[in-house]
Amino acid sequence: MVRWQRQTLGADDGALPGLERAGFVRSVQTPEFEGITFHEVLCKSALNRVPDSGALPFNWTINPMRGCSHACRYCFARGTHEYLDLDAGADFDSQIVVKTNVVPVLRRELHRRSWRRESVALGTNTDPYQRAEGRYRLMPGIISALAESGTGFSILTKGTLLRRDLPLLVQAAGQVPVHLAVSIAILDLDLHRGLEPGTPSPRARLELVRALAEAGFAVNVMVAPIIPYLTDSNTHLDELFAAIAEAGAAGVTAFPMHLRGSTRGWFLNWLAEAHPALMRRYRQLYGRGTSVTPEYSAWLRGRIEPLLEKHRLNRDRPAEPKVRAAESHTPDPQLALFA
Ligand code: SF4
Repeated sequence: MVRWQRQTLGADDGALPGLERAGFVRSVQTPEFEGITFHEVLCKSALNRVPDSGALPFNWTINPMRGCSHACRYCFARGTHEYLDLDAGADFDSQIVVKTNVVPVLRRELHRRSWRRESVALGTNTDPYQRAEGRYRLMPGIISALAESGTGFSILTKGTLLRRDLPLLVQAAGQVPVHLAVSIAILDLDLHRGLEPGTPSPRARLELVRALAEAGFAVNVMVAPIIPYLTDSNTHLDELFAAIAEAGAAGVTAFPMHLRGSTRGWFLNWLAEAHPALMRRYRQLYGRGTSVTPEYSAWLRGRIEPLLEKHRLNRDRPAEPKVRAAESHTPDPQLALFA
């Protein structure tokens, strides 16, 4: 449900309280982005400290946008839209909050004497190379600010728009560690259209991996989430891993789908329509919980490990990249089978 749609308006004209708290300035709709409303906000801070980051390979994140037009049904970040008084379903896909001042705010924070130049992760919550980045061009400023301050960073994305910034990323990798990861979990085109309707095609993302590898990056591919009974067949995984290896990736991280909070209902509504015969099996697999059963996890691990070996995508394999390999900064590392 889209609760709030307007043409460009001035500030403080009836914005939802959650957006007001986020520093709302105005809303924009343009013909090039049909069906999407951008809510421009002025953020107070750009660097977010990760609470309890013990299990994660980073302590800091930057999220230039909230909501994601890539619109993945399984997206674990959907619930965060509710803090803005927007819903976690269609609003998450179409009501995109953009921190238009993120670059100057970031530069200010990076210049603080207290900044210890710990690695910063982008793409841990929503995708920084979703379509809105084509309009707002925030990433070049973010990349330059981090590199110039001596701060290493990682980017996880499904957005082929990243190719626009490849020369800048190569330059940054000469100054600081830069880790790049691309998410590709589905090869089947019908499933891709049903489950990730706003993302570039799997083939386009494989070509992104190839371009990054040719530029000297050791690219990690997130084969995640694996959708039980839809993308966990030996045939699909073998074909997907073969394509990823052929594109030149250095390694793969894979884990099964987690169904938490609002994401659960949004995904299961789709499943009930698209694959009603699977509903009973999902009830058995997830019960009232958010994770698959330990038995399924073990079974999946047994299926995937030999395939990683076969395609030489096991991340423990020694590599000698020009640029350091991407750590798999999984959005939810507790779930990673192969972290
Ligand atoms: S690309 Fe990532 S952040 Fe965007 S909807 Fe898909 S899973 Fe969520």
